Amino acid sequence: MTIRTTDGRGRLFASVLDTVGDTPCIRINRIAPKHVTVYVKAEAFNPAASVKDRLALNIIEAAERDGRLKPGQTVVEATSGNTGIGLAMVCAAKGYPLVVTMADSFSIERRRLMRFLGAKVVLTPRAEKAMGMYNKAKELAEQNGWFLARQFETKDNADIHENTTAREILGDFEGERLDYFVTGYGTGGTLAGVGRVLRKERPGTKIICSEPANAALVSSGTPQERVGEDAAKGHPAWQPHSIQGWTPDFIPYVLQEAIDGGYYDQMIPIPGPDGIAWSKRLAAEEGIFCGISAGATFACAMKVAETAPEGSVMLVMLPDTGERYLSSPLFEGIPEDMTEEERAISLSTPTAQMAAE
Ligand code: PMP
Repeated sequence: MTIRTTDGRGRLFASVLDTVGDTPCIRINRIAPKHVTVYVKAEAFNPAASVKDRLALNIIEAAERDGRLKPGQTVVEATSGNTGIGLAMVCAAKGYPLVVTMADSFSIERRRLMRFLGAKVVLTPRAEKAMGMYNKAKELAEQNGWFLARQFETKDNADIHENTTAREILGDFEGERLDYFVTGYGTGGTLAGVGRVLRKERPGTKIICSEPANAALVSSGTPQERVGEDAAKGHPAWQPHSIQGWTPDFIPYVLQEAIDGGYYDQMIPIPGPDGIAWSKRLAAEEGIFCGISAGATFACAMKVAETAPEGSVMLVMLPDTGERYLSSPLFEGIPEDMTEEERAISLSTPTAQMAAE
């Protein structure tokens, strides 16, 4: 084997913002069944380590272009974390103040990360669910004349996935087989944007979407009540679930395009614990460090693989890094102190044996 070398990216970057996107599709070598080839699109390679960097950048730049966002104006948004972290990165780089509203049920790391990136975080009670943080952001924007990012409704969300995520997939799989594209949804931006393109340019690719088993809003068949583009109230099929970043307690307007347009071939419910189990396996057996929704999307892919024809090629979206889940159920059971086994390893050297005598 020759020694590995690298050549740089062949360009200099004028801003961290120019490093958003172009995330790698990586083959899974150990944990997938042998009759399928599975690639993951690892969105943790974005500068603020999630898929939402794309949307954050586009929401700000689209609003700058058409004058909805004024120089120095405060940006406000309701977010379960990754959009806030992405917006905090973009606002820091461009010099906009940012206020994020977030339910107090999401991981502590998320709040601290946003504050570290210079944002203000306003917590809303978990009992008010996603609607609580969403309404608070709207009120703050109206009260203070701030720019509301509206990730759940804005066309700038799916558009950036159409223009970047989907184009990257087409480019990376050019001349290659791609039988299944597997994703989950939070706002639905990834599904709607990638769906638009794959349906046209790779009609042979089946699009598989997943949602939490105990918050299967789309599978329930109950339509979302809306006032204009906004959800009028919480959806009856929603229950608290552990897949942070997936399925708020309403069907977002952005996702509605994918539902109405038939952008997916199957919607598969995934239990939260399956997501956690597969995220752990991706880390410990593939070296691919990702969050709970990534594990849940991979769990969905493994379900599809059970009946997929021999030789099928799948691409699975992994939306973020696992590092922002240290205080969440993902890391439950990961000890801080030495285990029995680790103590035995430590005791196996002569100096440790002497000290013990
Ligand atoms: N996983 C995580 C961890 C997320 O933060 C998000 C976005 N909220 C998603 C998945 C879903 O992405 P999208 O909003 O594009 O549907």
